Amino acid sequence: MMPPAPFRRVRLLVLNSALPVLDYRVPHGMVVEYGSVVVAPLGPRQVLGVVWEAERLPGEEVGDNRLRNLLQVLPVPALPAALRRLIEWTADYYCAPLAQVARMALSSTAALQGGRTMTEYRLAAQGELPQGDTSAKPTRMTPQRAAATEHLAGAQGTMRELAEMASVTEAVLRGMVSAGLMEAVQVDLDRPYPAADPGFAVPDLSAGQQGAADAFVAAVGAGAFAPFLLDGVTGSGKTETYFEGVAEAIRLGRQVLVLLPEIALTQNFLRRFAARFGVPPVLWHSSLKSAERRRAWRAIANGPDHGGAQVVVGARSALFLPFARLGLIVVDEAHEVSFKQDEGVRYNARDVAVIRARFEKIPVILASATPALESLTLAEAGVYRRIILSDRFGGATMPSISVIDLTKEPPERNRWIAPPLVAALKLRLERGEQSLLFLNRRGYAPLTLCRHCGHRFQCEHCSAWLVEHRLSRRLACHHCGHEEPMPPTCPECHEADCLVACGPGVERIADEVRDILPDARIALVTSDTLNTPEKIADFVTAAENKMIDVIVGTQLVTKGYHFPDLTLVGVIDADLGLEGGDLRAGERSYQQIAQVAGRAGRAEKPGEVMIQTRHPTAPVIDALAKGDRDAFYAAEAEGRRHANAPPFGRWAAIIVSSEDESEAKEAARAIGGSRPNLPDVAVLGPAPAPMALLRGRYRYRLLINAKRSAELQTVLRAWLGGLNFPQGVRVHIDIDPYSFV
Ligand code: ADP
Ligand code: ZN
Repeated sequence: MMPPAPFRRVRLLVLNSALPVLDYRVPHGMVVEYGSVVVAPLGPRQVLGVVWEAERLPGEEVGDNRLRNLLQVLPVPALPAALRRLIEWTADYYCAPLAQVARMALSSTAALQGGRTMTEYRLAAQGELPQGDTSAKPTRMTPQRAAATEHLAGAQGTMRELAEMASVTEAVLRGMVSAGLMEAVQVDLDRPYPAADPGFAVPDLSAGQQGAADAFVAAVGAGAFAPFLLDGVTGSGKTETYFEGVAEAIRLGRQVLVLLPEIALTQNFLRRFAARFGVPPVLWHSSLKSAERRRAWRAIANGPDHGGAQVVVGARSALFLPFARLGLIVVDEAHEVSFKQDEGVRYNARDVAVIRARFEKIPVILASATPALESLTLAEAGVYRRIILSDRFGGATMPSISVIDLTKEPPERNRWIAPPLVAALKLRLERGEQSLLFLNRRGYAPLTLCRHCGHRFQCEHCSAWLVEHRLSRRLACHHCGHEEPMPPTCPECHEADCLVACGPGVERIADEVRDILPDARIALVTSDTLNTPEKIADFVTAAENKMIDVIVGTQLVTKGYHFPDLTLVGVIDADLGLEGGDLRAGERSYQQIAQVAGRAGRAEKPGEVMIQTRHPTAPVIDALAKGDRDAFYAAEAEGRRHANAPPFGRWAAIIVSSEDESEAKEAARAIGGSRPNLPDVAVLGPAPAPMALLRGRYRYRLLINAKRSAELQTVLRAWLGGLNFPQGVRVHIDIDPYSFV
């Protein structure tokens, strides 16, 4: 077969310009292919672009004679075809600009500039002092140099580092370099990653686990699209089983992506991964430093061999990385809402992961103890292969669950822990076992008011109360991050000592535990207290070493952790998640409580869960108490079918915002006024959003409910494409929305 003729002209998807599609000439001597990342001139500027299939990127045809030359091909592998198709699919499905999606793949500017080296120094091989015979001592060796030589044995570093280490000046070391006693080495800044060993510590799997592992291993070997729902109870060893699929991918020289819903969980994952494969995986998340980002990005793009990236664990943004040879994707805790991104490109990483697997022709595993109804429905329809692990590993039993009716057994005044839970906490402390209290609310109190005049503290940028954080002595908005110091007097009536905290946050619960159990060691686990990987690691170590008696935490501790001596879980307010309910409030509450309950009794000692509620007969609570998951999902599915809600019908939201309230309202009205009149698309609104003011912007929402037969995206594009809005107005489309605020 003839090799394809080299490109003489190309069409670019331009990443950083208002003009997303432009044509260029390829100058003589330059070689590009589809997916090449290039620099091109645009007016006086230079822009970044990706060479794209022209027929997939409609644009204005420009005559050959008017084309400008490309300037440079960047020294990175071309974006693979499967990734280009994923970018197109994502832009199309979520109604997002193609260039904005492509930018998520090229998420390290530093990496695009190619490899970097730096010069380091070490003792030259012949620089060792000859032993014994001092007459053979070379004349170039002075006492100072000899002392430096002793200090620097085995060391390598920059001049400055070595000078400090040897307590000499850099001039001395430079002299040693000229004398041949030391040598320069070029070090790749992007150090290779150590290779994972698939046979490092192979576990003994139970029969059920082995069946699951075999299915994953076979699917990785087959190298075809295969979506799995790994539906296993908490503590069943889901990680252990999908690790066997990971091991097979490593053996076959393929890469693996493991998505976790939040960075807080990665510490735990890193340790388990290192225990199984001998080395840590490659990390990817938004708070990596630029140098780490570049190193990881390049290792991912270069493929698994020669110190490249074999297994990457990351937050949802890792999904668009340019893997050279992907062999498996795992989405752990796949039900988690945080896989949905609510700004920029509003995509759901769980769903896009399945699409990526389809384009890459590989298996994808969605793992969860409490799958989303959407995933379960697809499994029941046979689209996903469902693998069930119904028992906890090692003979551990599921915890017993009881409900505390707060209307019948209320806590004392200004207390939040009811008597039966107090008694259970005391019993655990006596027995030397651990307890976990869960309340999904950061800070001390969700509302502060003035006893004298009734003033309530509200965020000046959002429709939200300010939350008191007593540890940092501040009032904070949990929506925009605004903070102010707690004032000594009421800002309205100027009375002193009149501010009262209403309702509990985790800080307040921790205080209450301190009162009830003065001798207990208490750990407060929220994103305010555990805000670095080191602090999370310290917490896990302390809990494992039984240096903590009671953990008081937010959703941060509901999943992933395995503390064998934790035998009591108390849910402080099971009704919280159902308030201001959106479409998935019931499911979300169920998942959250089932997950936190799953922390109890994971080893020999049986676990007990106590759920405090004012609505003991609510379907969610009832299902949890009876342990009847199937009944809960069946009822939930029935309700959704009735409402034509996902997964049976489809939702989309249009969010209109502006700093000018009347401008926002006007734009929302214009959108509502031009709504399409179609039998399979219903439009609700516009109405002021529940968060009518957010970060200083006034907001309106429309909700679109479509039958599955509707071409939802086409309808939305046609509808909004014909409208024009003032500069200050932003209009966002949110397909399959999870947030309704
Ligand atoms: P899940 O994610 O399903 O809740 P984990 O994967 O966290 O469960 O497993 C629970 C605990 O049991 C972990 O400490 C894990 O290391 C251990 N475990 C599971 N399977 C095995 C096995 N086959 N051999 C040894 N330990 C196992
Ligand atoms: Zn705010």
